[in-house]
Amino acid sequence: MEQVYDVIVAGSGPGGATVAREMSLRNRTVLLIERGGNWPFMGNTLSMAMILKNFGLTLSRELNVVVIPSNYGGASLICCGCAVLPPKAVFDEVGIDLTREAQEARSDMAIDVLPDELVGRTNLRLLESANDLGYQWTKMEKFIKTDRCVAKCGDCMLGCPKDAKWTAREFGEEAIRNGADLLLHTTVTDVIRENGKAVGVKTRSFGREKSYYGKRIVLSGGVSNVGILRRAGIEEAGRSFAVDFLQFVGGVIPGMNTTRDQPMSVGTLEHYESDGITILPVFPNWAMQSIMALLKGPRSLPRLKDAFRFTGIMVKIRDELEGEIYPDKFLFPFSKAPTDQDRKRLDKGVGIIKKVLKKAGAPDDSIIAFNPSGAHPSASCRIGMVVDTNLETRIENLYCCDASVLPTSLGLPVVWTAVSLGKRLSKYLDRGLQAS
Ligand SMILES: Cc1cc2nc3c(=O)[nH]c(=O)nc-3n(C[C@H](O)[C@H](O)[C@H](O)COP(=O)(O)OP(=O)(O)OC[C@H]3O[C@@H](n4cnc5c(N)ncnc54)[C@H](O)[C@@H]3O)c2cc1C
Repeated sequence: MEQVYDVIVAGSGPGGATVAREMSLRNRTVLLIERGGNWPFMGNTLSMAMILKNFGLTLSRELNVVVIPSNYGGASLICCGCAVLPPKAVFDEVGIDLTREAQEARSDMAIDVLPDELVGRTNLRLLESANDLGYQWTKMEKFIKTDRCVAKCGDCMLGCPKDAKWTAREFGEEAIRNGADLLLHTTVTDVIRENGKAVGVKTRSFGREKSYYGKRIVLSGGVSNVGILRRAGIEEAGRSFAVDFLQFVGGVIPGMNTTRDQPMSVGTLEHYESDGITILPVFPNWAMQSIMALLKGPRSLPRLKDAFRFTGIMVKIRDELEGEIYPDKFLFPFSKAPTDQDRKRLDKGVGIIKKVLKKAGAPDDSIIAFNPSGAHPSASCRIGMVVDTNLETRIENLYCCDASVLPTSLGLPVVWTAVSLGKRLSKYLDRGLQAS
């Protein structure tokens, strides 16, 4: 007799791993399925490539880099550990209150600001320069364990080698300790339906197909939810989406270097409400810089000589919901380019960053702005379009829980929001299972 799990979760990023953990804490039987492996070596360029789909080289049809994770823990493995509360205004619009869940997540993930020695000299110089110019920069909160974090490491985006950063693997492992089953190298391909209700998933692992059954099915695979949903008849999934377009701007300040400082440990949200812009110091490492220089054009290649000297700042925007996801295309699975409004927002952010870099000591001719890229594919199965406010699709017992359900582009670090949504969904699923 086939086991019927209480919950099957497809995808082990922050949204999915949270549902697995929370449901296992409520003594529910859980199967967590992840298409990637459990890459163990962190802190170098190879680790970043191994954590990402297509080794990090997923491009939109318009040749914008879009970052897609494919490993146990999802993009939290390569994220900067920057914690920003779920934005109230965005969720008020759809009638969702995440206040309680966000506070629970704060405690579970040990969210706090870092001491100055971990923030680093370059970040503090940028903060001071920005505030001297009249901007309102502050230290950002992080999900980093200060007792394990090491000054001048800065390798958060290469997968934290010190195990200091919270990642979704922590919640996945806790779920396993509570009795959940984890399948790695296993891709959920389809939802199994009976009498119009979701009752299980079809999976593929090394060419072998297998079905698993559950009372509730939660898709937490980000952009890959789109193909599964369309095959289940939910055609509107992925017809437009967000990527929170960002642009890296770097300059050379003698004696400084952000690539060795804690990324995104200072910055500002002061332009968020008014302009949909977030500004945070962070810069890609030499390998990502090489790809970005190639995409920017041959004239920027000589700037790679500064690869280890750059002080860099990122502008991230709330982009318009545009473009399309083509789930069956291996090459160029997206169409997404900045709109006029997106470009205006990016330009405004780049202008502010240039002023801050110059004030901090970067000569004009040392400053370079790379092309826009997208690190947060999201809002492709959004609340109000594909899922309701309980994150349920129109197929009974089929839910989504990850960045894909965001009601709009967030333009902010996503992890705290994804974890809060996972907690909220788990409470709802548990109530439903109790009642059934
Ligand atoms: C370089 C970088 C830095 C970032 N820094 C920050 C930061 O500092 N703070 C912050 O809050 N956010 C940050 N983010 C964003 C954040 O990491 C992501 O938005 C977040 O991880 C999204 O969570 P998710 O739940 O949507 O799942 P994802 O992280 O997208 O994970 C989805 C998981 O599902 C798996 N999967 C996909 N399809 C299937 C399938 N069919 N079957 C089985 N498994 C599947 C994938 O392999 C993956 O493991 C950063 C992102 C990047 C790329």
